[in-house]
Amino acid sequence: MEDEIRINGTLVWYYTFCPREAWLMSRQITPDEDDENVVIGRFLHENRQPRGRKEVEVGHSKLDVVRRDSGTLVVTEVKKSRHSLKGARMQVLFYLIELRKRGIEAEGELVVPEERKVERVVLTQEDRVKIEQTVEELRALLRRATPPPPKRIPACKRCAYGEYCWA
Ligand code: SF4
Repeated sequence: MEDEIRINGTLVWYYTFCPREAWLMSRQITPDEDDENVVIGRFLHENRQPRGRKEVEVGHSKLDVVRRDSGTLVVTEVKKSRHSLKGARMQVLFYLIELRKRGIEAEGELVVPEERKVERVVLTQEDRVKIEQTVEELRALLRRATPPPPKRIPACKRCAYGEYCWA
């Protein structure tokens, strides 16, 4: 069963604001593909690699990396609004830990193009403990046979599972 639980950075991101959404995504239950948020997310994903960036696969995650002139490796995560930055920070920290496990030191960068916002993310020991706890909780959630019940949160308004949860 342990082998079937593939934790990736995107699931960590979903888990931080809605465990139910993380569970649904992990089971590949497809959200409404025409939902505006899915369309915008797809656009950002497809257009997120300016010159010099590369998408690399690490564990079960795909991440965008760039090597700065200074030699620093930077993992970039692009989001469409600042509302999701807390979770995005957790996502990037998860990537930095995955890289460190493989002997690669990197730092992160959160980008919100529409707001011209760029935030630097550096992994601390405290972050490492927090992410490892979060991953354990997420693993326990994903082992469950059924998802947690829906819970109204502000993110429901922008969620592609809206109809699935609330129709
Ligand atoms: S609609 Fe709300 S409860 Fe349902 S998955 Fe989305 S965020 Fe979670």
